[in-house]
Amino acid sequence: MMRIDVLSLFPEMFKAVFEQSILKKAADSGSVSYDVTNFRDYAENKHQRVDDYLYGGGAGMLLMAQPIFDAVAALRKRSDSKPRIVMMTPQGERYQQRHAENLAKEDHLIFLCGHYEGFDERIREQLVTDEISIGDYVLTGGELASMVVIDSVVRLLPGVLGNETSAHTDSFSNGLLEHPQYTRPADFRGLKVPDALISGNHALVDEWRHKESLRRTYLRRPDLLSDRDITEQEAKWLEE
Ligand code: SAM
Repeated sequence: MMRIDVLSLFPEMFKAVFEQSILKKAADSGSVSYDVTNFRDYAENKHQRVDDYLYGGGAGMLLMAQPIFDAVAALRKRSDSKPRIVMMTPQGERYQQRHAENLAKEDHLIFLCGHYEGFDERIREQLVTDEISIGDYVLTGGELASMVVIDSVVRLLPGVLGNETSAHTDSFSNGLLEHPQYTRPADFRGLKVPDALISGNHALVDEWRHKESLRRTYLRRPDLLSDRDITEQEAKWLEE
């Protein structure tokens, strides 16, 4: 079972994702456990302050090292495995499917959600193993960002998606965007499903999907093809 801990000043926010749908089912079936810790509980000062002014001056407040250091130490004591400690920060590596696949192999993840101006640099230097950004924009806090990462990791854990193959055919898993998809009816108000998909011929279906996946990627995200070894057949499809 994967263990996921989150350090946040707003634990209530996580109910929205941990207690619904596939993420809840994943916990109920024993694939994952979630625990959200309010690191304010670890503040040693009288008023349980977790932030302070910036050395050198400047607007805003910064999260202090002490509560987060002590909260992480307490979580470490409760775990047999060495956790990956993931800081949510717009300065981190931009999150991609390959990061989700990599994190999904771990036994224990601890997510640090920032607020205000972010974290005292010593947290980054001493505690953190990974820094993740979910995109080039700035959020008010790391909660939503960590939920994005956790959702994408949990759905990859064995047994979590009903259909084991579906995560392997999703966009990005094979370096391409997923091909167009259709469900019944085959003719919706004159809008027809492509012949290949209703042919009953698996080889034809696979070829159609591969070709459309490649074409869609070429049109929408050509950057994804830059490192790909395009086969002769794929090159022909792209020329069509
Ligand atoms: N002063 C910081 C900077 O410029 O790098 C931004 C702090 S931001 C207002 C507050 C917190 O939101 C961050 O500490 C981080 O946890 C979270 N956050 C904001 N944008 C994010 C992003 N794009 N990806 C991940 N976390 C983000």
